[in-house]
Amino acid sequence: MQEHLGLDDDDLDQYYQSSKWLADNLLTPLPRTDYGEAYAAAAEMAGHGRADFDDVSNVRLKDGAWVVRSLFNLTDPAWPRQTPAKLLHDREHMPNLHVVTKALVSKVNFKNKRAVGVEVFVDGSLQTVAALKGVIMAAGAIYTPQILQVSGIGNKETLSHLSVPPVTYLPVGENFVDRLTYTVQIASRKKIDKYLGYTVAVNTTAGITFESVGGSGIDSQMAIASLGLAPAKNRYAFLMPLMKWLMNETPIGELVDHFSNILGLVHDPQSRGSVQATSLDVSQPPQVTANYFSAEGDMDKQLANLKANIEIARQDPLSDWRMHSAFGTPNWSGFNSSQIDLLEQAGLNATGGPWGLPEFLNGLLTCEAMGFISVPCPPKDESKWPKFLSDNVLSTYHYFGTAALGSVVESSSFQVKNTEGLYVVDASAIPRATCINPVGTIMTIGHFVGSKLARAGHPSVLV
Ligand SMILES: Cc1cc2nc3c(=O)[nH]c(=O)nc-3n(C[C@H](O)[C@H](O)[C@H](O)COP(=O)(O)OP(=O)(O)OC[C@H]3O[C@@H](n4cnc5c(N)ncnc54)[C@H](O)[C@@H]3O)c2cc1C
Repeated sequence: MQEHLGLDDDDLDQYYQSSKWLADNLLTPLPRTDYGEAYAAAAEMAGHGRADFDDVSNVRLKDGAWVVRSLFNLTDPAWPRQTPAKLLHDREHMPNLHVVTKALVSKVNFKNKRAVGVEVFVDGSLQTVAALKGVIMAAGAIYTPQILQVSGIGNKETLSHLSVPPVTYLPVGENFVDRLTYTVQIASRKKIDKYLGYTVAVNTTAGITFESVGGSGIDSQMAIASLGLAPAKNRYAFLMPLMKWLMNETPIGELVDHFSNILGLVHDPQSRGSVQATSLDVSQPPQVTANYFSAEGDMDKQLANLKANIEIARQDPLSDWRMHSAFGTPNWSGFNSSQIDLLEQAGLNATGGPWGLPEFLNGLLTCEAMGFISVPCPPKDESKWPKFLSDNVLSTYHYFGTAALGSVVESSSFQVKNTEGLYVVDASAIPRATCINPVGTIMTIGHFVGSKLARAGHPSVLV
């Protein structure tokens, strides 16, 4: 981490203190479940080390196997709400904290090179918020570069395209990295309670972090949000209501809720894309060009990931959680004609799959390539897997790097270069993909920068 964040020894010490403070205050041990233990045992049998359920340090990345503690908010009474928002709620009594919701920041205002506030739409009316000492940006790896660009910080091409007067030229929006994954799904006869975040091994030799999520409600809800069951080129937003209906109101959702997902976070993908504001109006989304698999080696990593996850899924301890053939015909009466039209408009064969379902659900019946039911099901011929992966790959939604340390923000201070009083504390500052899920690192950066500014007596405006 030191090398990636460019921290000196004092800063590094402070960074770890921030990390430990967050871990002590927010993280909770994962509930030990039958599935979780079976998954950990399967990962061990596949050669990734023995997961230690009792190691609760979880502050620093360690090569080897242990169980990462969780900060998920499941909004479920049985699970604690330990999330970033908790920190705000804990501080609501503070007289100098004013939180505005439903606010859209449209630009940062500058006086010469100094950030002096922001323009923000609150309930549709544009207001100016003055910053006495500074502005901290935390709009994420897609929207932080957008706000910077419309405010006059970006590369020459983008700023001249936007016709915005430059505050400073920096490679904002370049170096976009999105970590991809592929999920091996296994389906069990019995329904599993929802579970998240079973990260049981970081194997730096294989370059993969192994985790599992699934059970009731997870895959059906994710299928709606990501449309990820469908091939990537057919994931059109207009299919979302249809997928919602399929998952929430038909027996297909019930079947999908028997799934567990075995997945790997591939370390250090090299492909880089860009984020570019297309208009000064920030309600217009920026153009994101991901350039997936453009760098040599990224497809090989994804293939290795797929094979490693299939290997884990095939291990004995998971035999109760996977099935070899269909587990019952759903009481499903099919799509109506307008739904079929919609699917065909998205380029999907609406009725070519099992029980008159779309073809991409073929793996619900059987999947020869895996040896167990899995959706989507890869071709039996392994030479076709690269094409299959590029057609079906999923984002982990781990985006980074668009206002990167070193090139856009100063190491250690996280201040935007050539400016005063402007800081970035979100995933855009992280130049490459983290090896484990990113929220802990992002929150640590926020806490680290905030503590440093507080010690220096700098109050700030939160964007
Ligand atoms: C479905 C899903 C599951 C995930 N699971 C995990 C997980 O298990 N563990 C993990 O570590 N990570 C997970 N991630 C990734 C994680 O959520 C992100 O890496 C992380 O939230 C990024 O943090 P950030 O602060 O950079 O940006 P964000 O969390 O995206 O925060 C940016 C905020 O800025 C706001 N914003 C943007 N533009 C403006 C504007 N103009 N004005 C005002 N506000 C604005 C946005 O509304 C948003 O609230 C998951 C992501 C998704 C989508």
